[in-house]
Amino acid sequence: MTIHDSMASAVHDLITPWTDIVQTGDVKIPYKPVDHDPMFVTLRMLIRSSTGGTASGASDDAARNVLNLEAFKLWEQITNEVALLTRKHTRDRPNPMLGAAVHRLAGSLDTLWNTHQITEPEYLHAIRSAETWRARIWKLLHKPREKELAYCPACEQTKVISPDGELQAALIAYYSPDAAPTARCRHCGSEWVGEGALIILGKMLGAELDETALTEMGAL
Ligand SMILES: [Zn+2]
Repeated sequence: MTIHDSMASAVHDLITPWTDIVQTGDVKIPYKPVDHDPMFVTLRMLIRSSTGGTASGASDDAARNVLNLEAFKLWEQITNEVALLTRKHTRDRPNPMLGAAVHRLAGSLDTLWNTHQITEPEYLHAIRSAETWRARIWKLLHKPREKELAYCPACEQTKVISPDGELQAALIAYYSPDAAPTARCRHCGSEWVGEGALIILGKMLGAELDETALTEMGAL
C-alpha cells in the first residue's frame, strides 16, 4: 500500500485542519508546528486572491484581479475527478460542495474496501488520486507569487525596461510560503524584507499589499 492506508487518511488534509512541522532557521527553536486550514479552504481563498503572478498585458491584469485562474482551474479539475470517482463507485449523486463530496466519497470507498466490494487496484487508484489532489494544491500554494507595486519610494521609478525591451513595474513584491515576503526595486535595487517591512511599504505607497497572501502564509 501507499503511505495512506485508507481513503479517509488520504483526504484528511484536504478537508480537515492539519498541522505540519517546519524549520524555523532559529538555532534555539529549530522546528515549530504550523497549523493549516483544510487545503480546499486554502485553495478557495487562493482563487479569490489577486496574486496570480506577474503578467505584462492589461487583459491578464484584469483577469487576475477577478480570479486566480490557475487555482480556479485546479478546483474544477479536482471537482471533476471527484465526481467521476463518485459515479464510478457509488450510487451517490456528487455533492456540489467539494469538501462534502470528498468526505462522502472517502467514507463510501473505505466501506467498499472493508466489505470487499472494490478491487485493490481501484481502491489504490482512488487513494493515489487524493494524494495527487493534495500534491497539486501544495505545489500551487508554494509557487512564488508576485505583485507589481505602483512605484519605488526610494528612487520614485514606476517602470523599468526589461532585458527583452518590455516595460515592467519597477517595484515587485514576491510572496512565497518558504521565504520572507520581499519587495525589490528593479531600478535601484532597494529591498524590503519581511512582512513588517512590506506592510510599512504598503502604507507608504497608499496601496493595500495583498493581505490575503500574507494571511495565507501565516504572516498576519
Ligand atoms: Zn528604486
